[in-house]
Amino acid sequence: MRLTTLSLATVITFSAAAQHDCAAHRITQQRLQAMGMSTVVREHLPTALPKGGGNPVIPVVVHVVWNTAAENIPDVTITAMIAQMNLDYSEQNSDVTNVRAAFAGVVTNTGIQFCLASIDPNGNPTTGIVRKNSTEVWFDPDTETNDMKYNPQGDPAWDPDSYLNIWICDISSGQTCGGVTTGYAYLPVGGIVGTGDDGLVLDFDYAFNAGARTATHEVGHYLGLQHPWGDNGGCVDDDGFTDTPDTDGPTFNCLPVNQTSCGVLTQYENFMDYADCSLMFTDDQGAYMNGIIAGVRNSLLASGGCGNTGLGPCIPTSTNGTTDGDFVSGVGLNTLSNTGTGGNGTPTYVDYTPLSTSP
Ligand SMILES: [Zn+2]
Repeated sequence: MRLTTLSLATVITFSAAAQHDCAAHRITQQRLQAMGMSTVVREHLPTALPKGGGNPVIPVVVHVVWNTAAENIPDVTITAMIAQMNLDYSEQNSDVTNVRAAFAGVVTNTGIQFCLASIDPNGNPTTGIVRKNSTEVWFDPDTETNDMKYNPQGDPAWDPDSYLNIWICDISSGQTCGGVTTGYAYLPVGGIVGTGDDGLVLDFDYAFNAGARTATHEVGHYLGLQHPWGDNGGCVDDDGFTDTPDTDGPTFNCLPVNQTSCGVLTQYENFMDYADCSLMFTDDQGAYMNGIIAGVRNSLLASGGCGNTGLGPCIPTSTNGTTDGDFVSGVGLNTLSNTGTGGNGTPTYVDYTPLSTSP
């Protein structure tokens, strides 16, 4: 009898500790392996480029792929998700004040923002939310990783060079053991950028639990961030940033407050860890994500998905750098024609601000 009681207690304890898992690293490795490449993700991560001018705004399209009514989550849940992402990426989240003093100096406003698309790939107005009634009961993250992104069961990506595609569907209900996968995204490696697989997959249920920051976390992967424990963890690997302390693996609990890993204070409040009190990105993470947007994902900046013209500031390029006397000799736009106004002698600048033209 005592044995039975013990077994029951063990089962209950295990169930209570069922952990939420992010499959981003796993699926990225699977892709690298399929491409015949090394499965060490950090070997493939691009070098961050200098941040461009202004703050990037990334157009988002959400594909709700649903089978039961509960999976067909309402628009208000999606707009709330985008709003929370914008708060999190700009250090405006209400809980950011909970960052412990040890890390207060490295909390960052990434400057990155998101908008639900208002113009679809055909140039037509849209809410940025598309819905597909699927006969698929649930999508197994390991064996049906991308099925929600293609016909017949899923909804195809919008041009991934112009939109961040987010699929919301059931990736959890059929899981029978172990941790529950709440979401995943490919890191920008292995030729994923610009393909129909690129983007986020979020569970319709767990990713929207009260306080869940799954979308914020997965966008971090989409913009090149690894988990703080890197490829292998175990204190022998990390994410490459100096302001995210080494940790040997995921932290699921924010207690005790001053828990340590690898001999240093654990930064469990980082959005890229798993704890349910995550609330910050660091300076290094913010700089790297902006470097990815300026680099391999820079086509997002030219997207007209959020209703702008897709035109950014005109920045002249030079093969010789900017210190060799380069000048802009003139600008012609529609009815404006201020050509031949530059020179390589004493710099002279003319203010044409009052002039404007329309396409
Ligand atoms: Zn993750």
